[in-house]
Amino acid sequence: MRDSTDPREPGFRESVDLMFNRAAALMDLSPGLEQKIRVCNATYIVRFGVRLRGHIHTFTGYRSNHSEHMEPVKGGIRYAPVVNQQEVEALAALMTFKCALVEVPFGGAKGGLCIDPREWEPYELEQITRRFTYELAKRDLINPSQNVPAPDMGTSEREMAWMADHYARMNTTDINARACVTGKPLNSGGIHGRVEATGRGVQYALREFFRHPEDVKKTGLSPGLDGKKVIVQGLGNVGYHAAKFLAEEDGCKIVGIIERDGAVHDEAGLDVVAVRDWIGRHGGIAGCPVGEFIEDGDALLEHECAILIPAALEGVINLSNAERVQAPLIIEAANGPITFGADEVLRQKGTVIIPDLYANAGGVTVSYFEWVKNLSHIRFGRLQRRAEEAHHLLLIEELERLSADRNLGWELSPDFKSRYLRGAGELELVRSGLDDTMRIAYQSMREVWLGRDDVHDLRTAAFIVAIERVAASYRAKGL
Ligand code: NAD
Repeated sequence: MRDSTDPREPGFRESVDLMFNRAAALMDLSPGLEQKIRVCNATYIVRFGVRLRGHIHTFTGYRSNHSEHMEPVKGGIRYAPVVNQQEVEALAALMTFKCALVEVPFGGAKGGLCIDPREWEPYELEQITRRFTYELAKRDLINPSQNVPAPDMGTSEREMAWMADHYARMNTTDINARACVTGKPLNSGGIHGRVEATGRGVQYALREFFRHPEDVKKTGLSPGLDGKKVIVQGLGNVGYHAAKFLAEEDGCKIVGIIERDGAVHDEAGLDVVAVRDWIGRHGGIAGCPVGEFIEDGDALLEHECAILIPAALEGVINLSNAERVQAPLIIEAANGPITFGADEVLRQKGTVIIPDLYANAGGVTVSYFEWVKNLSHIRFGRLQRRAEEAHHLLLIEELERLSADRNLGWELSPDFKSRYLRGAGELELVRSGLDDTMRIAYQSMREVWLGRDDVHDLRTAAFIVAIERVAASYRAKGL
């Protein structure tokens, strides 16, 4: 990653605050309420020891609750060596505004553990995760009605299953124990479509953007996603799914994939699945035979393309490289990939940025569906699917009867019949709910972006919509 040593570059937490301030300055909030919404309510630091490999190792974990105007508070838990208080607080703040923007009824939180998961065996990670869960649970920092974590960088379904199981062991009579975390595997109370949700949300966000010719015009790009050249940074959960869906379903050409140890490039389009497969088998992208390998991966961030998708970590586009970034459209799949300083530079250049608050909200949206599923103890679609199919069959049979009785010679195509007859299962319902959420949230942001003379970018618009909703919540129920 190109580190910015520019003294004008703020830290991650300050960067989020500056973005908040830029929007709040255009709003009519009392100074007291503005400050209440800006600050992080509480950050807890836990330190615990685990005996591993014959030694006691001390780990440091964080959970930050940014705003409890709605509960539970929600936000992922990240495993990375550089996790720190600034970072979790910035990410927790983003969660508050993200949930408000996509109308998910949660407050914002985030957690992290200072650890490099690649240094530990799975059974050791399980011990560490279970101990971390214990530390969080005894302080109600994981709880189905108060605080619900999810996966983030360095964590996945596997860690969520350990956390859910450990919480359930500590709370044997809590019938809703499984709702204490989301992003669990299906067999542990998860939901279809959660693993892909954030990447799928990025795809839906781009589709919605391209539905509005006036918005696309601001980028200077031609209409439609088909054939667009895309560069993705980070082929983890979010980046992989976004790139795969955009290539397979929307005709995009993934011309560059950047990882921590290099990048691959091919103007004709890369095989995303093959690259992911290589990374899975070799632990990195170095030496990947798909496309041309480039050692200085970050250089590709500055390469010509239509859409740039930073999907790895924060601060990767900063004052050291923003001026040279050529993509006219950037969609922030990661949280905070563009620093406040870089954001100013890009805005001056006319780059359109679809902000993280909105772009990666697919994960928390489907987490919300999973939490509702856990509390209702029934899979979505279980009651209505076959009834829906029977209802559709009535219509098909009636059409066929009419055609036969009156010698009309109508014949429904077999493809139409089978597609029309299929009732919606959980995955279809989850995708429908996610698509609806991404469309509506984009429109609320867009209304402010295009409707106000003093708002010139989608990020400020997103913050205005979100802050107004949090403010309305405080005004309605008090502090
Ligand atoms: P992940 O751990 O699955 O993937 C991250 C990927 O980025 C990995 O492949 C890693 O090797 C790569 N990477 C790390 N450092 C890099 C660097 N310096 N340069 C290039 N690549 C690098 O994590 P994820 O869950 O996909 O999360 C990625 C981003 O998306 C984070 O900012 C996270 O907060 C955000 N996010 C994730 C979710 C989710 O549901 N997982 C939801 C919302 C936002």
